[in-house]
Amino acid sequence: MVQIKQVGVIGAGQMGTGIAHVCALGGYDVLLHDVSAERLEAGLEIIKRNLSRQVVRGIIEQAAMDQALGRIKAAPELQAIGKTDLAIEAATEDEELKKTIFKALQPHLSDKTLLASNTSSISITRLASTTDRPERFIGLHFMNPAPLMKLVEIIRGIATDVETYETAVNFAKSLGKTTANAEDFPAFIVNRILVPMINEAIYTLYEGVGTVEAIDTAMHLGANHPMGPLELGDFIGLDTVLSIMNVLYEGLSDSKYRPCPLLVKYVEAGWLGRKTGRGFYDYRGETPVPTR
Ligand code: NAD
Repeated sequence: MVQIKQVGVIGAGQMGTGIAHVCALGGYDVLLHDVSAERLEAGLEIIKRNLSRQVVRGIIEQAAMDQALGRIKAAPELQAIGKTDLAIEAATEDEELKKTIFKALQPHLSDKTLLASNTSSISITRLASTTDRPERFIGLHFMNPAPLMKLVEIIRGIATDVETYETAVNFAKSLGKTTANAEDFPAFIVNRILVPMINEAIYTLYEGVGTVEAIDTAMHLGANHPMGPLELGDFIGLDTVLSIMNVLYEGLSDSKYRPCPLLVKYVEAGWLGRKTGRGFYDYRGETPVPTR
């Protein structure tokens, strides 16, 4: 089995920073890359802030934070990721973009490197087929926020070999996570169930059945969900929610997965949720205020 010592993370957004954070706390050396130097710098700051929070809350010791930070290095060039033992792609949820990243990484890969994608919905088999090692390619789907959420969904492509699967499961376990296996069908398990619910909540708003507040309160208190579905959509990122709905709609050829036009409008406006300061709520003030 491949010994994983160094992990490469591609994409320093919400998920990439969370994955780098848990890997470093788990004792792995981490190289973090983003196409945007600004996002990379901001990502490192976010990791520092989130680790500090864990220290303040008594979840980790200051020494663990210092060691974790010492293990994370910025990689401004993608090629450095090719020499790591496990490269986890966590860039924007867009199939063409992900394929371009794997193609660009290809010439720099060492023979031993395992490839993984943190995609929420895109076919692992299709992504793997753009590389020279589909048998050593796997879906490692961390949940958001990665440092807090216990689950990693594991998705084998049609060609993924047993050794890669076992290495991936052991790797996730070494980070203190529990794994669930999903077959490689659009959006796997978690998002096949969760994201259509969020889309339905947006339809409920679109059709005037309830206001933003009423819908979130109803599901929070009425279904005992820790967050209302619109708040959750904002938390995930509405661009990601829309991409997942499109993958379900096209991948399963079923009209029940059509994305709500109101979701499309929010994404077109660049109101992507928390990460851009505005979505179904406006986060720019002290407390979030519904935007409709
Ligand atoms: P995000 O928008 O926060 O971050 C995406 C990052 O990718 C950005 O920093 C962007 O600059 C970077 N990027 C774009 N093109 C790139 C390229 N060519 N090379 C390197 N970096 C590039 O998005 P996110 O929420 O972190 O989502 C990332 C991935 O994780 C997606 O596949 C998403 O589906 C998946 N995911 C998201 C969630 C969630 O709740 N947001 C949960 C699990 C998995």
